[in-house]
Amino acid sequence: MNILILNAGSSSLKFSLFAFPSGRRLARGVIERIGEGESPVHIFYDQHRAEYRESVTDHREALEYLERLLPRLGILERFDSLSAVGHRVVHGGERFVEPTRIDEEVIEAIRSLVPLAPLHNPANLLGIEAMRALAPGVPQVAVFDTAFHRTVPPEGYRYAVPDEWYERYGVRRYGFHGISHAYVSREYARLRDVTLKNINMITLHLGNGASACAVAGGESVATSMGMTPLEGLVMGTRSGDLDPGIHFYMHRYVGLDPAQIDRILNHESGLKGLCGTNDMREIERRMGEGDPAAKRAFDIFVRRLIRYVGGYAALLGRLDAIVFTGGIGEHSAAVREAVAEGLGILGVRIDGEANRSSDTGSRPIHAAKSAVELWVIPTDEERQIARETYRLLS
Ligand code: ADP
Repeated sequence: MNILILNAGSSSLKFSLFAFPSGRRLARGVIERIGEGESPVHIFYDQHRAEYRESVTDHREALEYLERLLPRLGILERFDSLSAVGHRVVHGGERFVEPTRIDEEVIEAIRSLVPLAPLHNPANLLGIEAMRALAPGVPQVAVFDTAFHRTVPPEGYRYAVPDEWYERYGVRRYGFHGISHAYVSREYARLRDVTLKNINMITLHLGNGASACAVAGGESVATSMGMTPLEGLVMGTRSGDLDPGIHFYMHRYVGLDPAQIDRILNHESGLKGLCGTNDMREIERRMGEGDPAAKRAFDIFVRRLIRYVGGYAALLGRLDAIVFTGGIGEHSAAVREAVAEGLGILGVRIDGEANRSSDTGSRPIHAAKSAVELWVIPTDEERQIARETYRLLS
């Protein structure tokens, strides 16, 4: 049976097609700049790679184009022949803690969560509604980025604000990147051939967005993103943790309004705010040239990580492994080395050579004498969504 996975952003649509039960990936790709004239389309299938340009004005036209493209490349005959479509949905609130079969009522419930994820949930809904219109007979499943964190206990998800803020307005930590944290934690257990039940680990998803997750026995028990994806680690353009008093100061004394503060903390802060770029490759290059702003941004990024991992290690009580993933986690040997060095007190020892090797697959990078295993595991959110969709339908 074939399962199509869609990850819809406001102007992009990522897709992956899997064959189950083998789990083989038949194709993956992305349609970018939807509604902006000529949309670049990239697709990878069967060792091939192709690029096209197509004018698509919205997500529905993007999917219609995909439905014409896939048969032309001999990948899939028609959307009608799919066994299911799995959608990534960023915010599931307190209600959606499992993969969920989509119907009208579920769509309305996802819509009701838009205030909690104003950028993401509306985009995810565009993909869902377009696909339902094109293939109404095919079962559709929503897999939520918040759901993996359903096991975080109240002392981990409640903020120290008036009880009423939680009870009436849902002010609590939800956490994100759950699909990725779930995938790499399961992948670690598979690669090590151990059962997750006995493992305590910390997974670090370091991409443009970044979050840490403490995983005990396969379950999330703490995570760094909060009610929104703005909290926690230093990110590409997001500040992460911040004294909440700064908001009032910038409002009252500098005159920024809430919308400006929101935009600056989400889009002009983090690595970019500190040194002008959110590209870790460029930061590393500039550090090599002695650029102090790049070095400072790198150090702030790493220090925040060390604080989180150290804190989570204490919460877990015993730490077996740290897993790095996401663009920076998978590719920045410098970040991994600096984080490992900062965690010496936990008995963490990195193998410098393994860390700097040009391998791109999953691999251990700890020294033989390390008390904690260190792994690089490339994330594959689409595969995790496909597995959860398959499990729900079978
Ligand atoms: P997104 O969260 O948008 O999916 P990615 O997971 O692709 O982002 O991560 C993007 C980050 O990964 C950027 O900071 C980029 O510079 C960094 N990155 C990608 N490749 C490398 C590399 N070879 N060395 C260092 N950083 C890298």
